[in-house]
Amino acid sequence: MKQILWFRRDLRIDDNAILSNAKNEVLPIFIFDKSILSKLSVDDKRVSFIYNSVLKLKVILKTIGLDLAIFYGKPFEIIKNLKKDFDEVLCSVDFDEYSIKRDKEIEELIPMKRYIDSFIINPNEHLNSNNRPYRVFTPFYKSLNVITQSKRIDTFKRNKNLKKITFDYNVIPTLMQMNFKEQKLPIFLKKNAFTLLEEFGNKITSYKEDRDYFYKDASSNISVHLRFGLVSPKQIFNYVKSLNTKSSEFFIRELFWREFYNYILFHFPKSQNQNFNGLNIKWNENDLDFEKWCNGETGIPIIDAAMINLNNTGFMHNRLRMVVASFLTKNLFIDWKKGEFYFSKKLLDYEASSNIGSWQWSSSTGADATPYFRTFNPYIQSRKFDKEGYFIKSIIKEFSNIDSRLLHIENGVQSNLFNNYTNSIVDIKISRQRAIKKFKEAKNA
Ligand SMILES: Cc1cc2nc3c(=O)[nH]c(=O)nc-3n(C[C@H](O)[C@H](O)[C@H](O)COP(=O)(O)OP(=O)(O)OC[C@H]3O[C@@H](n4cnc5c(N)ncnc54)[C@H](O)[C@@H]3O)c2cc1C
Repeated sequence: MKQILWFRRDLRIDDNAILSNAKNEVLPIFIFDKSILSKLSVDDKRVSFIYNSVLKLKVILKTIGLDLAIFYGKPFEIIKNLKKDFDEVLCSVDFDEYSIKRDKEIEELIPMKRYIDSFIINPNEHLNSNNRPYRVFTPFYKSLNVITQSKRIDTFKRNKNLKKITFDYNVIPTLMQMNFKEQKLPIFLKKNAFTLLEEFGNKITSYKEDRDYFYKDASSNISVHLRFGLVSPKQIFNYVKSLNTKSSEFFIRELFWREFYNYILFHFPKSQNQNFNGLNIKWNENDLDFEKWCNGETGIPIIDAAMINLNNTGFMHNRLRMVVASFLTKNLFIDWKKGEFYFSKKLLDYEASSNIGSWQWSSSTGADATPYFRTFNPYIQSRKFDKEGYFIKSIIKEFSNIDSRLLHIENGVQSNLFNNYTNSIVDIKISRQRAIKKFKEAKNA
């Protein structure tokens, strides 16, 4: 039996489904997929992160007697060329639309065995008492009590008797050959997943209280490593459970929001580009407003700082994601799909299901959505979670000497004549009322 082990978003050797289920002779491969990469810009930060992670995986696989063949091309063509020497392909399940189609086509060429590896639960297995998928987080989460309340979840044990198939695919494509430039990444991404987890372990007791204070470094910062499988969700679950703190349970709940959104997209694939709750909303089509939001030029300090920081680093704190998403969809009344698409190009941890689910949640169109009359007032949010303006001032340098109180008042910064800061593009109170009116109309239509 000769098997291709196709690493995709499982770039690790522990708790890895394919290394556990493989038998005998194997060829581990990674494909830089031309169809995906051709849509990305030359300065995409994720490609730098994945590239470095794939090279590291190759080194790690060598330490266990294996190796990694690295390709650049279309997966269908590459597997077509390899298939004559192999019996089957092993890989983890990818749930997104493109991957489902890609895998279906490849399955016509060679048998494929797929394993749930990037998520804890199989979305197909947890239905409600009517045999229907859950649509709301809390009952979904409660139904998983046996898992979420357990002390640990079994992980995949690596088959240590695998034999390497020697290959002559020794040329590793460079970033430049794939039309990318190496990008500077946020410092925390230089650390490996287990260092990040250990650091989180030292501060987890304050996670529940401090998580929303976006100037503090209170969360795990694990989402990027998790996205590309440098750590598995089960490993994170087991580590956090072993700490046995009050915040552990709170954190596990967050980790299951990721499961929930994957579950929702699996059962309701149309929610990728339709309002989950079916509301027919006539959004504001003003491109200039949208552009100003993207560029951080709205005249609202917290929104602008969050967006500028996203554009520079590829990262945004969870509370800020909620604030900018609410602002875009409620105050500017712009379609969540535009914000979702923008995040999909920028976020280092971009995960289609979490991003779509969270955007729909924020815009009150989703599963378990926030009620439409609930909007985040950006000034109240910044006063509450960054009173001294530490985050905002660290991003918008011209505010560094300004009285912090002005950051939390509508057009407050602009009242200081020495500042050359644009006026707010929208009145928060009036725009909130407009959003409520429009939602009411859509509901009653
Ligand atoms: C509009 C919007 C878009 C988002 N898009 C993404 C995305 O593309 N990819 C992504 O991984 N997360 C997304 N999130 C969720 C969340 O913001 C990030 O997971 C979190 O900020 C990552 O930082 P962390 O690892 O330090 O989080 P922690 O607070 O340490 O949480 C640990 C892990 O739990 C999961 N998690 C936490 N909160 C959520 C949540 N609300 N929804 C889903 N999973 C969650 C993540 O996997 C995260 O890494 C989005 C949230 C919003 C409001």
